[in-house]
Amino acid sequence: MAALAPRSALITGANRGLGLELVRQMAEGRSAGTRHLLACCRHPDGPRSEALQELAKRHPEVITVLQLDTTDLSSIQQCSQQVGSLLGSGGLNLLINNAGIISHGTMQTTSPEEMLATFNTNVMGPMNVTKEFLPHLRAAAAASGTAGMSCSKAAVINISSVLGSIDITAQSYSAYPALAYRISKVALNMMTACAAQEFKQSDILFAVLHPGWVKTDMGGEGAEIEASESVGGMLRVMDSLTEKQNGAFLNYKGEPLSW
Ligand code: NDP
Repeated sequence: MAALAPRSALITGANRGLGLELVRQMAEGRSAGTRHLLACCRHPDGPRSEALQELAKRHPEVITVLQLDTTDLSSIQQCSQQVGSLLGSGGLNLLINNAGIISHGTMQTTSPEEMLATFNTNVMGPMNVTKEFLPHLRAAAAASGTAGMSCSKAAVINISSVLGSIDITAQSYSAYPALAYRISKVALNMMTACAAQEFKQSDILFAVLHPGWVKTDMGGEGAEIEASESVGGMLRVMDSLTEKQNGAFLNYKGEPLSW
């Protein structure tokens, strides 16, 4: 059961994998205070969104499915407008930038197109989504009337990866190159560290979380943990965050990771 209790939360890439499990656990374990779970995906009516639509039908009072392609600025802006109408002056408490793609090549095998696509989805996506939703996050911080920072007040959680840790590259590169993906997650980590400084006066908390190596389409069947364990852990970590962890890089158990 998730203890995290924002009034509103928005999750990108919510139709499968970790995003879908985040919506499921937040809907099923929510506190009475949670009113809006905005589950965003590229193709709400497509075959890969059927599980999300089923989940939304089971919890129509709290889940709203919205179209959002994080690489398409007009889609982000349209979604932000819809979110503004839904949430009003209460704003958006928690934005989880979860959508991401992987590319497995090395320096020698990664094409410029693959590099740009990975950077576009994993870095420009979270950056543009965060920028367009800032008015809603600021509104939530202002509406809270409480001091300090938390994921129930105003926060952006970027789902990164331990593969974005430069420190572990020597031990892990030959087994798992994923050059474009690693570079994109390092950039996402730096973007989060910068945003943590830029928006601390606005009481908007930023952090990066590594979900573990998880059995999803991306993580594969041979991964270490189930999505339920990863998401249960990440929700507990999110629930525990305060201004002391603003800009932190943590795993799903709450352990700090090296940059
Ligand atoms: P999946 O591949 O299972 O799911 C990825 C999700 O991202 C899908 O919902 C996909 O939607 C969505 N997505 C991709 N591109 C876009 C886009 N342009 N706009 C909107 N949505 C998009 O991955 P996971 O659930 O495993 O991964 C989620 C996050 O966790 C990622 O950021 C990943 O890097 C990170 N992570 C995962 C690990 C793992 O072991 N699984 C390990 C470390 C980090 P669609 O169906 O439309 O393609």
